[in-house]
Amino acid sequence: MRALVTGGGGFIGSHLCDFLLAKGWTVVCMDNFITGSERNIAHLSSNPSFQLIRHDVSTFIDLESSVDCILHFASPASPADFQRLPIQILKVGALGTHNTLGLAKAKKAKYLLASTSEVYGDPEVHPQPESYWGHVNPIGIRGVYDEAKRFAEAMTMAYHRIHAVETRIVRIFNTYGPRMRPDDGRIIPNLATQALTGQPLTVYGDGSQTRSFCHVSDLVEGIYRLMESNQNQPVNLGNPKEITVLELAQKIKEISGSKSEIVFHPLPADDPKRRCPDLTRARTLLHWEPRVPVEEGLRETLDYFRKVVQAGNVSSGLAGASR
Ligand code: UDP
Repeated sequence: MRALVTGGGGFIGSHLCDFLLAKGWTVVCMDNFITGSERNIAHLSSNPSFQLIRHDVSTFIDLESSVDCILHFASPASPADFQRLPIQILKVGALGTHNTLGLAKAKKAKYLLASTSEVYGDPEVHPQPESYWGHVNPIGIRGVYDEAKRFAEAMTMAYHRIHAVETRIVRIFNTYGPRMRPDDGRIIPNLATQALTGQPLTVYGDGSQTRSFCHVSDLVEGIYRLMESNQNQPVNLGNPKEITVLELAQKIKEISGSKSEIVFHPLPADDPKRRCPDLTRARTLLHWEPRVPVEEGLRETLDYFRKVVQAGNVSSGLAGASR
């Protein structure tokens, strides 16, 4: 089996490349590295089953080889990126999805879209089932990502209905683990690098907003099961264990043994107050359940960031400054 992973140099994309290669697949990774990193896939460069193509999937994709499956993971995805790269996000969600779907149709390949819990916006239903249509501000700062992914889902379903492309849609909730960008502005890279460099831990708002954090190894297992299923309706994947942002900061402080104080910064606009997946569909259709306890995953992730900090790949004062 041969897969094309767009965004294969990114955090989730690179773990997906590893997972598919371990299953004996051949993997073509496509990335323009605006947010991905060659470091994430450097260990694969001499693997004969792995090929890297540098390309922006928002422009026409010319792929000579056959491909059995396309996994569209290319997109800047952190809230800091929403402000830095809004047009690229809209283009890769719209044009990139169109191009990759066109390629799937031409190659008769299965297609899996990486969608997001952001399609639910600041949800008024809790936890969020796939049947919930969402509460999104189209012109807010997060709107570029939310609406790009909503459009991508609509386009994916249209290709399924009109062109009979075998499609899958995964709605990914907060995911963490090694290879996150230390400066991507998200809570775990921010707090981890702050804790490890002795800077104050920045909590936005009063820290009472909640998220639920899924380890990337659990996520890629779920993505693979979804791809192998016959489910063309969206499926949520994430960890259902909800914690407040303040609790997360305290946990990171405790696990890292950091002496840093916790400081409070203003809450960014449209920041969702609660987020937690309803996993009924994933449980019943994919028999999937996240396994990695958050303490264990955080310990491993902190070890990763410790190496990043020691290698000098994070500048002091960078974390937390990205909003
Ligand atoms: N957050 C925080 N401190 C930080 C970065 C983020 O308190 O240094 C908060 C943010 O306001 C949000 C939550 O943590 O409520 C998760 O933010 P993240 O950027 O990781 O992703 P989101 O879930 O908002 O897409």
